[in-house]
Amino acid sequence: MIRSAPVKLSARAAAIQESATLRVTRRAAELKARGVKVMDFGAGEPDFPSPPVAVEAARQALAEGFTRYTPGSGTPELRSAIAESSAARWGSPWQGKDCVVTVGGKAALFELTLALLEPGDEVVLPSPCWVTFPEQIRFAGATPVTVPTSVEDGFRIHAGPLLEAVTTRTRAILLNAPCNPTGGVISPEDLRRVVAFAAERGLMVISDETYERFVYDAPPASAAALAAEFPDAVALVGSFSKTYAMTGWRIGYLLGPAPVVHAVESIQSHATSNPTSFAMVGALAALRHAEPEVEVMIAEYRARREIIAEGLNRIPGFRCIPPHGAFYAFPEVRGCFGPGRRSSIEIAEYLLEEAAVAVVPGAAFGADDHIRLSFACSRATLAEGLERIAAALAR
Ligand code: GLU
Repeated sequence: MIRSAPVKLSARAAAIQESATLRVTRRAAELKARGVKVMDFGAGEPDFPSPPVAVEAARQALAEGFTRYTPGSGTPELRSAIAESSAARWGSPWQGKDCVVTVGGKAALFELTLALLEPGDEVVLPSPCWVTFPEQIRFAGATPVTVPTSVEDGFRIHAGPLLEAVTTRTRAILLNAPCNPTGGVISPEDLRRVVAFAAERGLMVISDETYERFVYDAPPASAAALAAEFPDAVALVGSFSKTYAMTGWRIGYLLGPAPVVHAVESIQSHATSNPTSFAMVGALAALRHAEPEVEVMIAEYRARREIIAEGLNRIPGFRCIPPHGAFYAFPEVRGCFGPGRRSSIEIAEYLLEEAAVAVVPGAAFGADDHIRLSFACSRATLAEGLERIAAALAR
């Protein structure tokens, strides 16, 4: 073997970290492959099957040879159906041409940051926040400016502190409500304040509404409801992964103003080309026919939310407020810090090694006093996982 000089990576690649959520998933999968019975609260991945109607539509599409390239921005049918669904629910003005179907919501966000951000720009976003947001923003050369939300306040997202963080360098405000990892929501009034402010300043509100259907005790809010009034200020990202339990299908989308949509289309035409053809057929069937399944899932998450919050609050040193939305519990665990468990990372490591329980350390989301547990897992996993956590931490 002839070795050359060490491989030199770009500064961009050298700076980026593996996604902490996907790392936990990988490590849990490694343990499972070794025969360990892992209680997996790691990735936010619904335990429900994808809707049969979506599976059947995709199967049929495959059988009929729908296996070639489609237009790069997605099939016209799915783009129109997404826009129509948004118009019906929120009165948004978007049409099929204002929609790009992407390889999961993550790709829509990635392409958006590349389309909008310059080195030196800032993006204001509430914190704790999903691991991927700061990495994507930095990858585009810009700077994430985080604005804290607080556990005492149920991690609600308020307009005031966000707008105070806006400077002349701000290019966008990035919202994710309900929030991964906190479940924090934003009120329709606060959302309106943020979007109106952005419109006045020529900023973009990127609204990642992946968890939009999962709200438990607050009125739902969507930036789609403001897009007719402030058409240049709203870029909305959505996903089929969580709503329809279709994570592996990798279908997400962007809805937004024409220049942004065109830029994202061009980027996507060089990055991925179209999302998988037959997966889009399945997604269209889910959008049209799987509402009953969605309602069953929402009801079940609502019940699990109570179970997990109660269970976590019984563990000495844990404090958990029932999340207002999404399907993550985000307990404060500082009360459990001690020798060998001095941080959320060490607690997560300890739980994985000693109890075969997978959780994501809060540090990954900018909150080292917390850990994140997805309750998109079965009630049996909830029960046994909670027992194992309590027992392991009592040792
Ligand atoms: N979004 C989910 C999570 O936070 C799936 C993994 C990922 O893409 O981060 O767990």
